Amino acid sequence: MSALSALGGLVRDVLQTAFRLAPWPTATGLRVVGSPGPDSPVLLTANYDFTVRHVIRALRGCDVWLVVAPAKGINVWCAAGAGHLTTHQVVTALKTSGVADRVNHRDVILPQLAATGVEGLQVFRRARWRVRFGPVRAADIPDYLATGGVKSDAMRRVEFGLRDRLEMAAVWAAPVSLLVGGLTWVFRPVWALPLALLATILAVAVFLVYDQLPGPRQLLLGAGGALASVAVVAVAGGGLPALAAALLAPFALVALLTFDYAGSTPTEGSGGFDGQDWKIRLDPERCEGVYSCFEVCPEAVYEKHEGSRRVELAHDERCVRCGACVVQCPKDALFFEDGQGGRIEPATIRQFKLNLAGKRTVAVPPPPEEQKSA
Ligand code: SF4
Repeated sequence: MSALSALGGLVRDVLQTAFRLAPWPTATGLRVVGSPGPDSPVLLTANYDFTVRHVIRALRGCDVWLVVAPAKGINVWCAAGAGHLTTHQVVTALKTSGVADRVNHRDVILPQLAATGVEGLQVFRRARWRVRFGPVRAADIPDYLATGGVKSDAMRRVEFGLRDRLEMAAVWAAPVSLLVGGLTWVFRPVWALPLALLATILAVAVFLVYDQLPGPRQLLLGAGGALASVAVVAVAGGGLPALAAALLAPFALVALLTFDYAGSTPTEGSGGFDGQDWKIRLDPERCEGVYSCFEVCPEAVYEKHEGSRRVELAHDERCVRCGACVVQCPKDALFFEDGQGGRIEPATIRQFKLNLAGKRTVAVPPPPEEQKSA
């Protein structure tokens, strides 16, 4: 790789991290990585430029076919959850990319986080390709391929470590700082830089500690920011208008920065749909030990019971309601329940997905007793 293209890649990385909230589409179709042959593995990912470049970079030294499917230029998990990377997109990409003419098998490896939107069984029924869900992170793909598709527990888990937290802080800090700084510049140029800086500091604080705060988290973080910024303005000798701005701005900024916190992090459950506390539930009578739930769950909720060919919901408190296990279970053994008779069936999850704001886009039917009395 030349120094110029490395620099170009770095610039794109920075821009696409800072402005990840915008789509960054890249060309769909078939990419050749290394020197693949008819027996080489086929991978598929979304047409998000950042992801495609990172997957290709991670695959250096491997010989694979990479199918890039249309997903509106957004990342795999968001595209799958929002209904932009679906069974239809995957079937279309497999049929139109020409990959079927290049290989002598019909096995395709998808990123695990596509499992909320792409139903493996339906891909097989409609395109005759068998779907396997590979690791969460691109960096683990070479090891996954080298072991013939063995996925370790670590390859399945979605973590939210310091690096991920700082990355998400940058994703929100860049647009919010620019917006706040730009708007303030029009009315009070002297406040533009301090407010943009405050937005950046609060973005870091939100993604480092927000999920660990108790009680009214927005209020707590806003109050902390207000105390600190009022102190700084007071020490700097700011007047009453500046003190008022320092007092109020942190609350508004925290509200803006946490607007889609659930959609931006894996630490929150997806929506308390209609105010109800939906929990993942398993019908043991239907479970036949296919283990698709175990393979796609990013929170290690399931444990395998090889002897009885069953799974157990061993850690349901970890569930973030991504819906991947429900979508993939070929026996419809999984569903969501609210403990008061409310139930979301697999067909509903498959049809409507979960939207980016973490709210369901479908009205949940009332419990059976209410239906009878209506
Ligand atoms: S158990 Fe919860 S977190 Fe795990 S795949 Fe199912 S819905 Fe997602």
